Amino acid sequence: LQEEFVNMEKFHLIGEMAASISHEVRNPLTSTRGFLQLLQTGQHSPEERSLYLDIAINGIDQANHVLTDYLTFAKPSIDKTQRLDVQAELFSVLSLITPLAHFSNIVVQYEPPGQPLYVLGEKQKFNQCILNILKNCIEAMPSGGTLTISASEQDDSVQLLIEDTGTGMSKEQLQRLGSPFYSTKEKGTGLGMMVVFSIVKAMSGNVKITSQQGDGSCFRLSFPRVH
Ligand code: ADP
Ligand code: MG
Repeated sequence: LQEEFVNMEKFHLIGEMAASISHEVRNPLTSTRGFLQLLQTGQHSPEERSLYLDIAINGIDQANHVLTDYLTFAKPSIDKTQRLDVQAELFSVLSLITPLAHFSNIVVQYEPPGQPLYVLGEKQKFNQCILNILKNCIEAMPSGGTLTISASEQDDSVQLLIEDTGTGMSKEQLQRLGSPFYSTKEKGTGLGMMVVFSIVKAMSGNVKITSQQGDGSCFRLSFPRVH
């Protein structure tokens, strides 16, 4: 069983990543533009045409993935730290993710807390954090499985448990998790977990991850509880 306590200090706050993110969006868009321009000029064989179009489409997909991992919940207004109802936020992320889960034959099990639980944070960032974890869990179960989510109180903290029955991670993978642009996926951004760790850190929380290759992964998030 691979286990990792995440060292929050190695992650920058999200705002500091903005310049790098725009770079990650601009690069694939520049490549897309280049290949479309190439198509516009001169004669190309059907094979060339199809290759250039594939590259152009991939560039747009890649830019879209970066934005999904980073900005799904972003709104024009500046979000402020507020008291968040964990159950309500979980519901809104789950409604977004459940169709995706069902598409991959994944059963979603959600165990709501027995009482309202509150944490302090920025609504959109908290939701982005949960979304990025759930999306990874779903992507780790391409041929189905079970996604289990629960929230509970433990002493003065709120615990979120997110568990999948997917591919799992090796010790080496677990250690690299959250490093910017670390991805094992063909179309991955390697930004999702970095964003998760940054947000959890900003909320004075912590993450503990356990994983077993071939069995699945478990993400335990803990945040200070407020009333
Ligand atoms: P991306 O999803 O774009 O690859 P992430 O930062 O979200 O980037 O995740 C980084 C890597 O961590 C993934 O490519 C994958 O190898 C691994 N990973 C993250 N979550 C899980 C999970 N639930 N199960 C298995 N592997 C995972
Ligand atoms: Mg991801």
